[in-house]
Amino acid sequence: MLDLNSLDLEFKNRVASKPGGEKATNCFLCGTCTAGCPVSSLNNEYNPRRIMRMILLGMEKDVLSSPQLWQCSQCHTCVAHCPQDVRFADVMRVLRELALEDGYISREFLEEVEKIDREIRQERIDRVNRLQNNR
Ligand code: SF4
Ligand code: SF4
Repeated sequence: MLDLNSLDLEFKNRVASKPGGEKATNCFLCGTCTAGCPVSSLNNEYNPRRIMRMILLGMEKDVLSSPQLWQCSQCHTCVAHCPQDVRFADVMRVLRELALEDGYISREFLEEVEKIDREIRQERIDRVNRLQNNR
């Protein structure tokens, strides 16, 4: 059940004040981002539309402490599909910065996630190259 006293209606403006989050308040919760998201297709729990709704409602603590912040692969598919130019992948990056700023995660945790993302991209390049070399 939603605790109305815990909502911070300024949260969406805080997100919008950061580079990359400027268009967050354009969202009209259509769900196109979730429908095309490759992470959502693998994990039903991961839902960009729900995260946007929580931002707009002011559920700051729930958003910034959510494990979902770290599941986005930053592929930008949602950016290409969004009819409102919200740029959800960039909003997600802002949320990660705010989670660090507010002490929900450590700098080391953030760096480790970025390292994992780099390694996965490198792994893809290496595997595709191997595949091509073995044709
Ligand atoms: S971010 Fe864009 S695609 Fe996602 S719910 Fe909002 S308006 Fe729709
Ligand atoms: S950037 Fe993140 S939220 Fe957007 S489609 Fe890719 S994985 Fe999903």
